[in-house]
Amino acid sequence: MIPKIEPHKIDVCFACGTLDTEGLVVCSGFGAFSDSICMRCISEGREPYMEVVSYIANAGRWPDDINEDYQEEVRRQLRLHNKTEEEFAADVEQYNIFFNQTF
Ligand SMILES: [Zn+2]
Repeated sequence: MIPKIEPHKIDVCFACGTLDTEGLVVCSGFGAFSDSICMRCISEGREPYMEVVSYIANAGRWPDDINEDYQEEVRRQLRLHNKTEEEFAADVEQYNIFFNQTF
């Protein structure tokens, strides 16, 4: 039986940061992880920004290594987060520098 899905109280929305709101734990379109997301972000399809960054950073260089469908979706996410493509490219670069260094 498919369980009935109802919004419940979440402490924080991982996509927009809204505190004490209604939401659901949903699976990301940018990888195999789930986060608490508020109902507004669910309706807009807004993903947590850093998860978009990490997904693209792990896939290669932005935008050359990313297929057109994902480029389009990333650009939609950037609009939802009020980020420019230059800011995003810099964040992807920073992510790669941080996680690819040897300790
Ligand atoms: Zn939200």
